[in-house]
Amino acid sequence: MGSSKILRQLISLSEDFEEYSLESDSSDMIDQVISRKHLRKLLSALQARDASTLCHSRRVAFLAKGIATNLGWEGIHLKRLEVAALLHDIGKIGVPDHIIFKPGKLTSDEIELMSHYHNIGLDVLQACHTDHEVLTILSQTRYHFSGATNGYQFIGSEVNQGARILAIADAYDSLATDQVYRTGKKHEDIMSILMEAAGTQFDGNIVCALSRWEQNEKQAFHDALQEVNRLFQPKDFTEREALEANLINNIFSYLFQIESLYDGFYIVNSDFQFVLISPGLEKLADLRAIDMLGESWTSSSLPLTNTEGTNLTSAECSMNRVIANGKPMTTEFMLERPGGRLINIEVQSVPMFGDDGRLIGVTEIFRDLSRSLKRPKEYNDLKLAASLDALTSVANRGELETQLAIMLSRIQKEQNPEPLSLIFIDADHFKDINDSYGHSTGDEVLVELARLFQHETYSGELVGRYGGEEFVILCPETALEHAVKKAERLRLAVSNLKMENQSNIRVTASFGVAQYEPGDSLESLFHRADSALYQAKETGRNKVRALTCEQMKSGEVIPDEVPEKPDSEGMRFESTFNALISSDFIVYKLGGFVNDNHARLTEVSTNRAVMRLGKAGLLPFWGKTDDRKPVEIEVVFGSSTKKSNSNRRQTSSQVEIATRITPLGWIKQPEVFQQRAGRVFRLLKDYFAAE
Ligand code: GH3
Ligand code: MG
Ligand code: MG
Repeated sequence: MGSSKILRQLISLSEDFEEYSLESDSSDMIDQVISRKHLRKLLSALQARDASTLCHSRRVAFLAKGIATNLGWEGIHLKRLEVAALLHDIGKIGVPDHIIFKPGKLTSDEIELMSHYHNIGLDVLQACHTDHEVLTILSQTRYHFSGATNGYQFIGSEVNQGARILAIADAYDSLATDQVYRTGKKHEDIMSILMEAAGTQFDGNIVCALSRWEQNEKQAFHDALQEVNRLFQPKDFTEREALEANLINNIFSYLFQIESLYDGFYIVNSDFQFVLISPGLEKLADLRAIDMLGESWTSSSLPLTNTEGTNLTSAECSMNRVIANGKPMTTEFMLERPGGRLINIEVQSVPMFGDDGRLIGVTEIFRDLSRSLKRPKEYNDLKLAASLDALTSVANRGELETQLAIMLSRIQKEQNPEPLSLIFIDADHFKDINDSYGHSTGDEVLVELARLFQHETYSGELVGRYGGEEFVILCPETALEHAVKKAERLRLAVSNLKMENQSNIRVTASFGVAQYEPGDSLESLFHRADSALYQAKETGRNKVRALTCEQMKSGEVIPDEVPEKPDSEGMRFESTFNALISSDFIVYKLGGFVNDNHARLTEVSTNRAVMRLGKAGLLPFWGKTDDRKPVEIEVVFGSSTKKSNSNRRQTSSQVEIATRITPLGWIKQPEVFQQRAGRVFRLLKDYFAAE
């Protein structure tokens, strides 16, 4: 399934909520604002990213709640504000180190980047079904960073009062806390800074409420603030929490990629209700997420028309089309901007499927085709951190490692874990493909390989590009011998792969397989599969090799043939003949055979050649006619021996040619294969005027 794992995880965050809300006790006020489970996950991820930000958030929550209480707030409203304050910096989870820990003020580019992350935080909170009031507060609190004042926006009465309170609580704590470039300020100094900005950046009434609170309580106010610090004990993560934090982190990196490369996106769940509408899309389509979240999608949810400017029929809606055919697609539409202007946009629609193949939602990603594509450097740098490989759209190395780590930690906890295997794949002589056909064709081959691996795996495997021309497939619930069979099937499929417009290109790949064994780490498992791959290369490429820990230890090299099914005896034809030519002519003769019979040479060396004969159909089964019964022919030439010929003056040469024929594809009856192989063998022999 081409759909992104991460998008699926976002959907499952929102499903998690539904399960949870059914069983939770609705008298708990926090649960009316956000599920505790999500709150805990998000705050853990924030702590994992930067514990001091979490501590800051707790102080801001304390301050916001106190100010609001002084303004007469109570009940659920107070709770919402408190939660908003705890989560106001949640976007920092995704912010790169060089910005989060930058000693000094941020540049305007960096500020823009931070506000991007603030938006991503809002995306994730939407998917977690956070209370709409909280979303409103946070979307109106302009991203604020370590005490630099140019991050604030004008705060007027049209802004939600919770957002106005939060802005002041946030500013107060930032000014009070030691920063990398200045020490924290005293209460009086902070109050005068806030007062100075009252009426422009801050709401003067709220600044006064804070001031009154402090004057009423004096030392008790400062002690209570200290107490928040004292009570904050960064907790040690369990392995599971660390993984969850990592997952949230991945979601942020992935959304960053979407947010930075595109202009907006939305997600609907399996009931076609909106679960996420990104701030970018709100801006682009001039709509408000909180009006739409939870509502059902309709063909007029967004102001779209076809390229002629007329309203979309239901058949024209990309949503209806991806649901119908289950495949991702890209469509161009026009989008109506406020004022009636139509702009050209591109919509990518991605259906998402659960492990059981059920549709769990659809994501539509929007790009404004009328704007320039220039982006700050950070965007490109960070693209690398996202989970998908840009060329092939399969998982990238980081994602592979994350997922494997998750699988391993699960296995290591279980009494009787299911087996887990890993297949390491490296395309053979890929350099030659680049050299012969050019790098961009090489790229296309990689895309095709990735696609093939995805199409050929359907048991919950994760296919990823490890780097260059290397792929890895994680196979959960798969023991070594099954993984070897799987690899063998893939090896055959690769060697049969035809490029659409360059049918002459042939690719093979070598495969290394390993199964998780107790004591394995992520590294040792990769290493073993890689060693097996090395053996596959060493023993002639286009091979599958597997290694167990024991074989690794004893340095054993597995014999050339992978053990085959017992009934495969009849699926091989081996015979030898003597050719009455000198070895110099062998290649020439072989060339004739290849040309006349439309065979393809896949490997040639001084004493060996491998060819393919016959066409593979769309399905990997043998057809009725000979040309639909593809076989692989391996010929190994011995050295020539002189043979005297008493009737002639000269001596003629004779070369022994060992032939092995194997079927390509799946057939059931060995007799059918043996007959076909016999005909091929005789045909070949004729070319060499064999005895
Ligand atoms: P073998 O693995 O069988 O030993 O031979 P090889 O030629 O495949 O191996 P090698 O590791 O020497 O070279 C790998 C080549 O893959 C070199 C590089 O040009 C090519 N390659 C790596 N990444 C890409 C890519 O993204 N696109 C293209 N077109 N080529 C790539
Ligand atoms: Mg390589
Ligand atoms: Mg290679």
